[in-house]
Amino acid sequence: MKLLIIEDDTRMAALLRRGLEQDGWAVDVVADATGARHAVHSTPYDAVVCDVGLPNGESGFDWCRWLRSEERWTPVLMLTARTGVQDRVTGLDSGADDYLGKPFAFNELTARLRALLRRGDTERPAALRNGDIVLDPAAHQVRWRDRPVPLSPKEFALLDYFMRRPGDVLRRSEILDHVWDYAYDGTSNVVDVYVRYLRERLSAAGASELIETVRGVGYRLVSHE
Ligand code: CA
Repeated sequence: MKLLIIEDDTRMAALLRRGLEQDGWAVDVVADATGARHAVHSTPYDAVVCDVGLPNGESGFDWCRWLRSEERWTPVLMLTARTGVQDRVTGLDSGADDYLGKPFAFNELTARLRALLRRGDTERPAALRNGDIVLDPAAHQVRWRDRPVPLSPKEFALLDYFMRRPGDVLRRSEILDHVWDYAYDGTSNVVDVYVRYLRERLSAAGASELIETVRGVGYRLVSHE
């Protein structure tokens, strides 16, 4: 089984290599996102262990997004010193399959890798379409008549939720529950703010009046099915 490690800390990389080789893996190590791009182009890997903090201006999240945009579905386990919820969400949003905070027990790393292998390559989630707008959850891209619509992660998550329920009136509280963390204790005002941002982004790309306000209730994505 062939494994790619992306880690710039040479001591950590050596430690990982030794341990994983003992566990039966054939291991390649690269120190940054550029090296990792070359590696996956030349070698088929069964899994990737990727540090979030990488040098030269591209994080592990950036690299993972690139990998998925290339339609490569090799299981990716992200490593990071940070363990906040936001990082976990960003990690999974970027297309990583699992997440392990440093420091970790080596047993846990190998157990998680075995679990990822059992699952195999993750299936590419289907793109969502509504009229001229296409949202690709795998590549994390939105296109309007083949033009890219740049969205922040939260705007993307909001549009994703709308596109799974075209034509349905979505209450603010429902949107809040699905798009924000359950632990979020803000008011539903944040929904209005982000719907406004999302509308602005969409109309800047040419897609206006896609999301209707349903007075006193919430919002609805106009269905074009
Ligand atoms: Ca690092």
